[in-house]
Amino acid sequence: MNAGPLSNSKIVARYRERTPGSAQRSEAARSIFPSGIVHDSRRVLPYPIYVERAAGSRKWDADGNEYVDYHGGHGALILGHCDPQVTRAAQRQLELGTHPAACHDLEVRWGTLVKELVACAERVRFHSSGTEANLMALRLARAVTGKKKLVRFKGHFHGWQDHAAFGVDDHFDGSATPGLLEEIAGHVLLASSDDLDGTRALLESRDDIAAVMLEPTGGSFGVLPIGAGFVHMLREVTARRGVVLVFDEVVTGFRVARGGAQEHYGITPDLATFAKILAGGLPGGAVTGPASILERLDFEAAQTKGFEKIGHQGTYNANPVCAATGVACLQRVAAEDVCERANRNGAELRAALNAVLAEERVPWAVYGEHSAFYFFLNPDGTDTEPRSFNPLEAGFDALKRSGKHAAAQKLRLAMSIGGVDISGKPGGLTSAVHTGEDIDHTAQALRQAIRMLRAEGEL
Ligand code: PMP
Repeated sequence: MNAGPLSNSKIVARYRERTPGSAQRSEAARSIFPSGIVHDSRRVLPYPIYVERAAGSRKWDADGNEYVDYHGGHGALILGHCDPQVTRAAQRQLELGTHPAACHDLEVRWGTLVKELVACAERVRFHSSGTEANLMALRLARAVTGKKKLVRFKGHFHGWQDHAAFGVDDHFDGSATPGLLEEIAGHVLLASSDDLDGTRALLESRDDIAAVMLEPTGGSFGVLPIGAGFVHMLREVTARRGVVLVFDEVVTGFRVARGGAQEHYGITPDLATFAKILAGGLPGGAVTGPASILERLDFEAAQTKGFEKIGHQGTYNANPVCAATGVACLQRVAAEDVCERANRNGAELRAALNAVLAEERVPWAVYGEHSAFYFFLNPDGTDTEPRSFNPLEAGFDALKRSGKHAAAQKLRLAMSIGGVDISGKPGGLTSAVHTGEDIDHTAQALRQAIRMLRAEGEL
């Protein structure tokens, strides 16, 4: 395929040399899947690697190359790949049956753990994904308030459903993306989480808002960071004005702290949605909140209180294999210092990478909070000192454009050549099982990547 500006690159040539097995598989996949992929974030030019197996913090591709993995199963694997307890739990349940189409003990244990860990979770309902959980949160909010509008924030991701499929990477004017009804997009009000006064004014000025939904530590897990003061403001205004505050904790849940971002901030939202770590690496999602809202899903409450119940189905809701891995994972999150270790690894990795940038005199920075790290590639060439970089000061526009910077793709390939798999933001997530050796290896890969990028005039 035509890799455009990548076609004469030595970095690309080296990537191709190392990964012929992936190239071959990718070629075959192109005649099956659009772009040869099954998730937009898997798009890598000239082609993505094909992974055969993974363990702990590492994974191996079809050509036997080893990588330190910073995707972490899109955030699901805070315990790393193939955690022994999680794996055993899945194996045990596979032998007992994958789908009884009946109630089972594991769903009760799973829900109990969620209730114990999450402050707002008086009631829980399981789904198969974060996208579904967010849809249900919105439906619940509209049902209890009788109002229509959803306030969302530019750059905050809530899955691919109709209310959320614009204003994340594009369509910041709120217009619908292809296949969406303008009528639905028209019920979504896009605000900016770096504009406290404007957001407050929006919430104060309207009486038709059912819900405010946000990624509580900032868009795309902090690529666009958010001030704690902003979240406190949202809690205060929504509580006073009877608007349902929804924390999308699909990534932050059981990660930034055992009880998610709500524990980290000490702010209890009305509803919170979960997925990823919730199910220990298999599919699963949940909406959680007070009985007074989740009773909209309750047959008896609907009958005694005289409202029409919200229907809820889903073939794989609390599937027992997912419940088994979810229970195994959440038990460890509850009992051990899993979140603390992931956060500590994130801080150590950011510091190590910034030290390399400073030593190599590269005017970029690595930023992020908790277990996240993101490269700021300084698209406007401003004076940037890696270790004192403040993403809130850089502004959303520059942070967003950083990921689309020409060097971003080559950086990803160069890191891959060095045995490190980062995401396209570019950046990634640390788990509780990343080691000091992983971090050293990653710093070394960055040093080598910088030299390769310099040799091609990208720096
Ligand atoms: N919300 C957030 C914050 C997410 O990061 C994601 C997935 N990356 C989703 C919702 C959607 O979850 P799922 O992919 O399970 O539908």
